[in-house]
Amino acid sequence: MRKITTIAPPLPALPRRKRVAAYARISLENDKTKNSFSAQVSYFSKLIQGNPEWEYAGVYADCGESGTSKKRDDFKRLLSDCEAGKIDIILVKSISRFARNTVDLLETVRRLKELGIDVRFEKENIRSMSAEGELMLTVLASFAQEESRSISENSKWAIRRGFQKGKQSSTQVYGYRWDGANFVLQPDEAETVRFIFSEYLAGKSPHVIAAELNDMGIPSMYGKIFYQRTIISMLGNEKYIGQIIMQKTFVENHVTHEKKKNNGELPRYTIENAHPAIIDRETFDKVQARLNQRKISVQRTAFTSMILCEVCGLNFQRATKYYKNKRTSVMLCANRKHARPCDCGTKQIPEKVLESVTTEVLGLSEFDADIFKAKIKQIVVPSKSQLAYHFHSGKIVTREWKSTAATDWWTPECRAAQAARMRDKVVTDEHRKAQSEGMKAHYAANPQRRKADSDRMKKFCAENPDWCKAQSERLTAHNAKLKAGKGE
Ligand SMILES: [Zn+2]
Repeated sequence: MRKITTIAPPLPALPRRKRVAAYARISLENDKTKNSFSAQVSYFSKLIQGNPEWEYAGVYADCGESGTSKKRDDFKRLLSDCEAGKIDIILVKSISRFARNTVDLLETVRRLKELGIDVRFEKENIRSMSAEGELMLTVLASFAQEESRSISENSKWAIRRGFQKGKQSSTQVYGYRWDGANFVLQPDEAETVRFIFSEYLAGKSPHVIAAELNDMGIPSMYGKIFYQRTIISMLGNEKYIGQIIMQKTFVENHVTHEKKKNNGELPRYTIENAHPAIIDRETFDKVQARLNQRKISVQRTAFTSMILCEVCGLNFQRATKYYKNKRTSVMLCANRKHARPCDCGTKQIPEKVLESVTTEVLGLSEFDADIFKAKIKQIVVPSKSQLAYHFHSGKIVTREWKSTAATDWWTPECRAAQAARMRDKVVTDEHRKAQSEGMKAHYAANPQRRKADSDRMKKFCAENPDWCKAQSERLTAHNAKLKAGKGE
């Protein structure tokens, strides 16, 4: 006979309560009140004992100056209890309380991770066992790398150093004061920050807002006036929502200490609720949306930052020209755009011309910005009518371009109108004198321009002596006619 034995499933093990310890370190320089020590200890005891899923495993606390290695007895005791398997979670107020430097921190946190112990940093809102915690470790590792390369000040916090060193804006934020460890809210400045955000959302421009604040006599951070750019950078500062973004920039070259904007080469790490917010998230997001619209209206085209004036070493910039209500977009050397003296002799190139020449160079049937970006590294302009296309592949193709300005603007009607104007025009001595004064003033203000113009003229005349002679005769005859009051 068959015997049936029932095998009872094992009883599900009750989830064991997590054994939670806290580590507190009191630095005398920052925690001015003597109660701080017992306050922290009782805070953590209450926090742990108030959580039904947690089992109190004790509060470990050291007292000593911040950043030094003195008096870390309880820290050592905590680690040995961890090794002994007595603890599952460690609560810490902030990263800076936990270890002396990033290298130290990384080693400790990684070892604790191996043991399955989660370290939770309250201020930074980080759990070492979470995916975010992993990211944090990566970020810290990169700081640690930098730290190990520069052995100076090894007692200081690499993170805090990153915040302070060279990145003035990070610790000097209107609306807060940096007390050495935290951003402390400045109520009166916070009020101004809220005003700026609400005015901007009400449709006012940064320029107008700056003027309003200056009219009201409200000083900026260092008692100076507000500028448009001050307002724009404030409107985009995530610190106003209590957030800190770490690793916005990074040191690319450890020899030159060249800073580079982090566009995803390294993880960017965000700390939420790092300090009291001045602006709520919704308002901030609306402002960012409007700021982005503004960026679009400034409009980057396919040619932005792509055309280099070889002589000046500057990029061509975009300008909009109007002639008889007709709008044309051109690209021209930055020196020329801003009327700075230069010798490059480049011309403004209509975008239409750039597009058609580029289309031809790329062998396309119509201009395609994506293909252009994919294939061309840069367009170098060596002289007034040449364009040298530098491909990513290393190939260089040179093309001549012709100005279409004459045909675009100098229509038969324009020509007739101008001729009519000239016919009626009587050039008086005063007029001639005024013109000559104008030229003198222009050259006095731009001595380099005078030299450049004169050299260019001399060079041209030397190369074209016949034209030069004929032109000189034409001008003499023309001036004589004008002087006689006949016009032409
Ligand atoms: Zn130039």
